[in-house]
Amino acid sequence: MIVELLNTGSELLLGQTLNTHARYLGRRLVECGLRISRQTTVPDGPEIQIALAEALARAHVIIVTGGLGPTSDDVTRDIAAGLLERKLHYDPAIFERIQERFARRGLTPPESVRAQAMVPAGAEVLTNDHGTAPGLYLQDSRGTGPSRHVFLLPGPPRELIPMFEALVLPRLKAMGGPPIAVRILRTIGIPESHLQERVEAPLRARFPEVEIGYCARPGEVDLRLIGASADTIQRAAAFAAADLGDAVYATGDENLEDIVVRLATAAGAHLATAESCTGGHVADKITSVPGASAIFLGATIVYSNQEKTRQLGVPAELIARHGAVSKEVAAAMAAGCFERTGADHAIALTGVAGPDPGTPEKPAGLCFIAHRSMRDASVKRHMFPPDRPAFKDAAAQAALDILRRRLILPPGIKEKSC
Ligand code: AMP
Ligand code: MG
Repeated sequence: MIVELLNTGSELLLGQTLNTHARYLGRRLVECGLRISRQTTVPDGPEIQIALAEALARAHVIIVTGGLGPTSDDVTRDIAAGLLERKLHYDPAIFERIQERFARRGLTPPESVRAQAMVPAGAEVLTNDHGTAPGLYLQDSRGTGPSRHVFLLPGPPRELIPMFEALVLPRLKAMGGPPIAVRILRTIGIPESHLQERVEAPLRARFPEVEIGYCARPGEVDLRLIGASADTIQRAAAFAAADLGDAVYATGDENLEDIVVRLATAAGAHLATAESCTGGHVADKITSVPGASAIFLGATIVYSNQEKTRQLGVPAELIARHGAVSKEVAAAMAAGCFERTGADHAIALTGVAGPDPGTPEKPAGLCFIAHRSMRDASVKRHMFPPDRPAFKDAAAQAALDILRRRLILPPGIKEKSC
């Protein structure tokens, strides 16, 4: 069954609104055993007609979002009715519902709102409990071949999502099949091309029917396995995971910070961070996880040399000798954080975030991350992307990964510094 998504709205193409519907609907359709084969975004206006006509010529299921409102740029309903050769008729029940919504706010609806009460002949009205514009479901059985299903849904996510869940999803589930089996192995520390070199040939040889994909983010790569059978995907994922070892940090939706909080909670271990170049980004990620308060003691943000000395006891002489971005200072920051907070694991970061290029010895992107625990201490040198947001993200991920690896390390084994 071919499924297409047509997102309408000039704001989506002007860069003003992120198309969150594509992500949400894509995910939900996979659960119905359906995949969106094409997604098109068009501005309000006549482009909708061209795009919908094209989609009708290709797809069995077409989901159209946006353009059902009362304003002059809301033309989706009229265009769909025209293309499917349906007359529009006025449905007084819809208008009454709209009137009630307005009345609750002490208002009367303007005439333009009547457009939302127009229904193409034969369409099913999808009630909107969170706004005025109802959705519409049209089945088109003209011509030969299987009939086509067209869903027109409102643009605002708070209207579209509940409508989709209650009134569209059950219909799509009946049309689709068992959920498409998708497994994501979230890896860290292996560059994208190396990951492919390592896993792809053995996976293809053993599981030729599995679709393999990759998705890189700062410091991380997702390995995506897709197939029709959950059992095959499960076996393929186990096969790849066994090869990749602890480079795989999750096989589901969990983030690195979720894993760190989960592991620390299970171990009863308390964490603290000392952050220079990341300005609290590691702490921000940890504290975004519900339940972090049970394991996170706090962050010391020490941006200046003076604060590194004042708040963490890093000797001024050490900073003068090695520079603030050095493995010695990173180690001293971690030691100071460990001693002053009483954490089981202290992590410290100092680096050159960019975009200024830095110096040849200390270029933008250079970062030292130190870890200190009762058992041992380590410092690692990293080169991250030299632009600020990517640098901060990659550094925070690397710091979280050190914590993760430390928390899964069997007792008695010490970390290696490099
Ligand atoms: P509408 O009146 O149906 O055109 O919807 C307009 C509202 O829905 C605006 O707030 C849009 O920013 C929002 N909206 C429309 N399409 C999308 C989309 N694909 N993703 C997220 N928000 C959207
Ligand atoms: Mg609009």
